[in-house]
Amino acid sequence: MALKQFKSESKRLLDLMINSIYTHHEIFLRELISNASDAIDKLYYHALQDGDTGLNRSDFSITLSADKEARTLTISDNGCGMSQEDLENNLGVIANSGSLKFKNENEKQEDIDIIGQFGVGFYSAFMVSDDVTVVSRAYGSEEAYQWHSKGAEGYSIAPCEKADGHGTTITLHLKDDTEDEKYSEYLDQYRLQSLVRKYSDYIRYPIRMMMHKSKLKEGTGTDGKDPEWESVDEMETLNSMVPIWHKKKNEVTDEEYNNFYQEKFMDWQAPARVIRTSTEGTATYDALLFIPSQAPMDYYSRDFEKGLQLYSNGVMIMEKCADLLPDCFSFVKGVVDSQDLSLNISREMLQHDRQLKLIEGRLEKKIKSELSSMLQNDREKYEQFFKNFGLQLKFGVYADYGAKKDLLQDLLMFYSSHEGKLTTLQEYVERMKEEQKDIYYACGDTVAHIQQLPQTELLLDKGYEILYLTDNVDEFALRMLGKFSDKEFKNISSDDLHLENEEEKKEAEQKVEENKELLSFMTDALKDKVKAVVLSQRLKSHPVCISTEGAVTLEMEKVLNSMPGNEKVTAQRVLEINVNHPIFRKLQSLYEGDKAKVKEYAELLYTQAMLIEGFPVEDPVAYTNKICELMVGE
Ligand code: ADP
Ligand code: MG
Repeated sequence: MALKQFKSESKRLLDLMINSIYTHHEIFLRELISNASDAIDKLYYHALQDGDTGLNRSDFSITLSADKEARTLTISDNGCGMSQEDLENNLGVIANSGSLKFKNENEKQEDIDIIGQFGVGFYSAFMVSDDVTVVSRAYGSEEAYQWHSKGAEGYSIAPCEKADGHGTTITLHLKDDTEDEKYSEYLDQYRLQSLVRKYSDYIRYPIRMMMHKSKLKEGTGTDGKDPEWESVDEMETLNSMVPIWHKKKNEVTDEEYNNFYQEKFMDWQAPARVIRTSTEGTATYDALLFIPSQAPMDYYSRDFEKGLQLYSNGVMIMEKCADLLPDCFSFVKGVVDSQDLSLNISREMLQHDRQLKLIEGRLEKKIKSELSSMLQNDREKYEQFFKNFGLQLKFGVYADYGAKKDLLQDLLMFYSSHEGKLTTLQEYVERMKEEQKDIYYACGDTVAHIQQLPQTELLLDKGYEILYLTDNVDEFALRMLGKFSDKEFKNISSDDLHLENEEEKKEAEQKVEENKELLSFMTDALKDKVKAVVLSQRLKSHPVCISTEGAVTLEMEKVLNSMPGNEKVTAQRVLEINVNHPIFRKLQSLYEGDKAKVKEYAELLYTQAMLIEGFPVEDPVAYTNKICELMVGE
């Protein structure tokens, strides 16, 4: 029979599995059992939805059996089974498989480690086996087919007999033992039993295995009679079948939660936080939620789909129920089980379900309170969390016209000039100086860049703290908040900082009066670039800076104009000059004799100020020529 080739990406994964240097080979069992359980779910749940009452939940099971002589391990289920076509499509190609999620095909040690640790799927069988046979009969079909492969060379599919009804039987011939690897351990009943308990305990169908045991013969070993042993074979159910979220809190170990999470949500790291919550009354449910330790690769992309798994009394009815999670907490993974939901409820109906809305509201509160407590009690962990998902919280503040801003504002963190660390808004406000009216922030690509902005110098000198905003959404989020604890947010480049006291104000007004003509001459010279040229109240040692008037700041201009399709916006620029800087005296004296030079210098100064703000030079050639001219000394 002709061997068929695996599709190329499947082959690569297969190679990794076969040559895996990853040591957790044992997870192959978890993968095959979870496929069996999925197959039963598919059959049972669909039958229920279609109103087919011919199936009984108690009829379903998954069976393990080991044959030491033949060196084979068999996993069988009576789930939906696979047709010839299914075998071809599901096992010849990695379709929609969790396996696809690893991006890396290069064989770096760490990548392989990652691959070994989560949803590796069917091919993981090849980590322990050199010969895999799948016999399957689709539900409702009379025909059975056998899929067979010895690994990378390919696979074959042929018709076969399957007498015991619908479902799938997978037989693994275990690899030969080596110095380092004793594959025969997977023939040991106690080893198998403990693997099932470790990884698959909550599987809702019985996982059964014939256990060979020595038992005390009845009537012996007591009343002075010598114990006599007999060996008996007993079919045992290895798993407790109780979903982990239905177990009492004190009966579940951290390791069990972690295993459950990692397997179910295909993460190779333990979660940052586990949240258990249940309620009775208007909405009865048990929820088991997780906050991942790391943002998934696709988290901030369009491909990411939020949602919680929705169960009705232990039976899954939806893989990703988006309506259970507000967008701002879309990173949360988990399971919600509610007995109030009907099994055959449709997606459309779910969307309008009042119960679901109630549950969402409760979960939102719960997640918020868990995050708050993490912030209070485990700062380091919270900061790590914030580095992963803080962006989402900030988007959350901005989205829907600020609908969630009250929920989220206490959870926000920004990098601050105070000790160069992340700070919450509350902490900022508590540190504010008595005379400080507003919360100051500055925007830029990086903290280092912001620190160099001329505008920061005087503020920091006065002992004011500045929030350094480096994400595009930051300023928009703060604008949406408007105020925190009655303090307004002020961009340090905005025109209404009011840093000066009465005396300074008078002095400033006088200087403006004295230099009125010069300033208006310069304003004229730059009239297509700036709204005005003014004397600055916020510069200390730097000669110039750009500030903005009105609602749109330079940062917002950048962000808005970088979005496709938006109408271009322009911030109202103001060129501020430091009246105490030598360059200003130079301008004053030039104004008396050489007005053309003043015009040139005005342009140079404007370009410099824009460069500092991170804008490109409009005419680089003219600019550099000018600098050279000055260097040569004209
Ligand atoms: P995943 O489970 O993530 O989809 P797998 O590699 O584990 O990926 O399995 C690939 C596909 O093979 C499954 O999606 C399913 O369609 C099919 N399959 C695997 N095992 C079984 C089984 N025991 N019964 C029915 N279908 C199965
Ligand atoms: Mg699978």
